[in-house]
Amino acid sequence: MRLAVMKERRADEARVAATPETVKKLIALGNTVAVEAGAGLTAGIPDSAYAEAGAEIAPDAAAALSGAGIVLKVRAPLASGEEGPDELALIPRGALLIATMSADKDSVARLAAAGVDAAAMELLPRTTRAQSMDILSSQANLAGYRAVIEAASAFDKGFPMLMTAAGTIPAANVLVMGAGVAGLQAIATARRLGGRVSATDVRPAAKEEIKSLGASFVGYEDEESKAAQTSGGYAKAMSPEFLAKQAEVVAAAIAKMDIVVCTALVQGRRAPILVTEAMVASMKPGSVVVDIASDAGGNCALTKPGERVVTENGVIILGWRNWPARIPAAASSLYARNLLTFLTTFWDKDSSKPALPAEDDLVRGVMLTRGGQVVHPNFAAG
Ligand code: NAD
Repeated sequence: MRLAVMKERRADEARVAATPETVKKLIALGNTVAVEAGAGLTAGIPDSAYAEAGAEIAPDAAAALSGAGIVLKVRAPLASGEEGPDELALIPRGALLIATMSADKDSVARLAAAGVDAAAMELLPRTTRAQSMDILSSQANLAGYRAVIEAASAFDKGFPMLMTAAGTIPAANVLVMGAGVAGLQAIATARRLGGRVSATDVRPAAKEEIKSLGASFVGYEDEESKAAQTSGGYAKAMSPEFLAKQAEVVAAAIAKMDIVVCTALVQGRRAPILVTEAMVASMKPGSVVVDIASDAGGNCALTKPGERVVTENGVIILGWRNWPARIPAAASSLYARNLLTFLTTFWDKDSSKPALPAEDDLVRGVMLTRGGQVVHPNFAAG
């Protein structure tokens, strides 16, 4: 089986879907691996490192994809009408494409028409068995880390309490909005830097997790929040009444904060606005809001996705998109391992190719298209 690793062409993307380490393992499965020239450069991996691992370096996308049975990508391939070459048209019919697809009905229909069997890894069920293939977790963890590091860099004071002969600098007060995978890592990172950390969430389980990391819980709890977790482990969209009560508690805390790290998401919806304009106006000049939720619109009302904003009262809001790509070497290394684990889990040694049983819950969760048909219930016609 020929396996192609493509260079990512979408704006703000610096990751790559395979590393020399995973290339070696993919070859050990009996594949030949073609890596598009320059695919790893933005993640610090030169072509020579892939070549040393045994990959063929293909001069362009067409050469990498020619004859490929499996295609590894970070993001969905560009299609006609998007800026750049039509990558989808270059993928051979019948190939298995594994990527973060962020699909909608139209793009899924295009994949089916192209005869590509597409696996959308972000749709993998969050089960124990899926943990080592879970790209949302591996990437969110690094995004949470990176957000705190960038906040520390943008903050003109210090994170830890610094007691010096010239006087004392107080510890930074940090509030983390949303304590899922990214938020918990943000709490841990801010604590390691010496910040005084508190956090809020709506899922009851999150409160204990916040406390177990040594942060304090800021939040509002009622009957609604007791049932705020879906069976899949995600937060439900909360009622306007609940959000108003939560906002009262957050508003009182936020005026004292130096750093606010926003990570709250509700699956399939715009991110909830948890930091209002008035809350930002109450913050001190030089305070920093980092918004990891910006790809989903942001948790801060003043976030401009993709931009750094400085408000009239001197608060810095970092609304960068695609936070995992801001730490591309580590993010690529974990993403590549997630994809390798998915492939090896379903690898059929006899036929030297993946067998993807339609009844398997992980396969059912990720497969958008098969054999020219849309198979995922979220995108089925009708
Ligand atoms: P996410 O990215 O969907 O959301 C981030 C956080 O925002 C969540 O903790 C959520 O509760 C919170 N949030 C949503 N609305 C909010 C609001 N109005 N106010 C405050 N916070 C709000 O979440 P995630 O990081 O993907 O984690 C989701 C769940 O999946 C968690 O329960 C996590 O433990 C679980 N999980 C399980 C596995 C596994 O077992 N394989 C792996 C990863 C995550």
